[in-house]
Amino acid sequence: MAIATINPATGETIKVFEPLKDAEIASKLDLAGQTFEQYRKTSFSERSQWLEKAAIILQQEKADFAKIMTLEMGKTYKAAIAEVEKCALVCNYYAEHAPTFLADVPIKTDASHSFVRYHPMGVILAVMPWNFPFWQVFRFAAPTLMAGNVGLLKHASNVPQCALAIADIIHRAGFPQGAFQTLLIGAAKVADLMADDRVKAATLTGSEPAGASLASVAGKQIKKTVLELGGSDPFIVLESADLETAVATATSARMLNNGQSCIAAKRFIIAEAIAPEFEKLLLDKFQALKVGDPMQPDTDLGPLATPDLLQDLHQQVQTAVKSGGKVLTGGHPFADRPGNFYPPTIITDIPLDSAIAQEEFFGPVALLFRVPDIDAAIQLANDTPFGLGASAWTNNDQERDRLIEEIEAGAVFINSMVKSDPSLPFGGIKRSGYGRELSIQGIHEFVNLKTVWVQ
Ligand code: NAP
Repeated sequence: MAIATINPATGETIKVFEPLKDAEIASKLDLAGQTFEQYRKTSFSERSQWLEKAAIILQQEKADFAKIMTLEMGKTYKAAIAEVEKCALVCNYYAEHAPTFLADVPIKTDASHSFVRYHPMGVILAVMPWNFPFWQVFRFAAPTLMAGNVGLLKHASNVPQCALAIADIIHRAGFPQGAFQTLLIGAAKVADLMADDRVKAATLTGSEPAGASLASVAGKQIKKTVLELGGSDPFIVLESADLETAVATATSARMLNNGQSCIAAKRFIIAEAIAPEFEKLLLDKFQALKVGDPMQPDTDLGPLATPDLLQDLHQQVQTAVKSGGKVLTGGHPFADRPGNFYPPTIITDIPLDSAIAQEEFFGPVALLFRVPDIDAAIQLANDTPFGLGASAWTNNDQERDRLIEEIEAGAVFINSMVKSDPSLPFGGIKRSGYGRELSIQGIHEFVNLKTVWVQ
């Protein structure tokens, strides 16, 4: 895949970038390794000041950064602005909390003094996706830099200008030149990087094959990885739920990021008694969405990020129909528009045992399933190889407790859509990956823990 900016709303190639040559990659690795030796000695107070400055730059120049995101991957401009603001939030969060999260932890033993100390690991590689091109990177960079590590970013090939802008922000904020570098390279170079002695660990957000590939190289090298992979998140609505709010939230949760979010609600599991009403209300909402130019403030749904994604999504829709699914709205790409637009689509009646019911639909397509009761709802919610986030709607306390306890996922949100927040750990189970980002758990992923005993 070429490293290039291609406008998903028009198909126009704006700029093509030369990938780094091997010698250039080697010199960036050298710089990262050398910088780490100095950078690890900086104080929390210096790092916090730099990170707070990064938050200020993000806020001051959010319009420019949002335009780059919309141009490269097609999210609506208003969503891109919100993403930049969230990046500022995560910078300020770790600037404030990292010193406490990484302070020595005293432990009472029969030593005169014993405690746990956290040390930085060194150079950490981040392999990132295009769908939240700023947020995914800042939620890695903020804790990683506060912990005294240095970062190398291999961003998705379709968001090179985002990748370069992020490294520039971090450098302008005051961090040393080699503390965070962007490598404009293709996926084929990642295995060599992971095997390089100077790289100590890696995080990857993306698809299962990419995660498995990185983790297998890391496994051979005995290096730690964090994987944030796909999801086919359930959105369960039971009889006692507030239906109107559930439907409005279901629409936002499915359409988040033009339908291309790992934690977007993808399988809607609805109690039989309220299913006809839910379907009708959801259909109204989907049909009212405005599809169009992502730069326009009244656009609800922009294009998918690449033509391949459009093709793959439509293929899945066709397979769902062949398996017995019924399309209530949408179901075909627009014939008369350039760009990668796909209409809001609802499919019902997909047989539960069909292979397609298990897949992640990465676009504005909602799969609707009816269930007789909470037992069937939980069973269906868990009947997936993934386990990222689940949203469940009920006003019954017993049902709520069962949903929290029995749903297999990294997060369960009751009467709310699944979202990430700097103060809450984020990550999946099963084939959605392992490890956590954000919160105290996120900053503890890339530190060496030393047990200290003083007699
Ligand atoms: P992808 O193809 O896996 O790409 C993600 C990143 O991995 C890109 O930088 C890509 O580089 C790189 N990559 C691809 N193949 C690789 C390989 N074999 N070895 C090493 N690196 C490789 O993912 P995508 O399809 O663009 O993104 C969508 C997926 O990401 C969905 O499944 C979504 O659910 C998941 N996702 C998960 C989270 C989460 O937090 N759990 C968040 C967002 C997205 P190139 O661009 O150069 O190919």
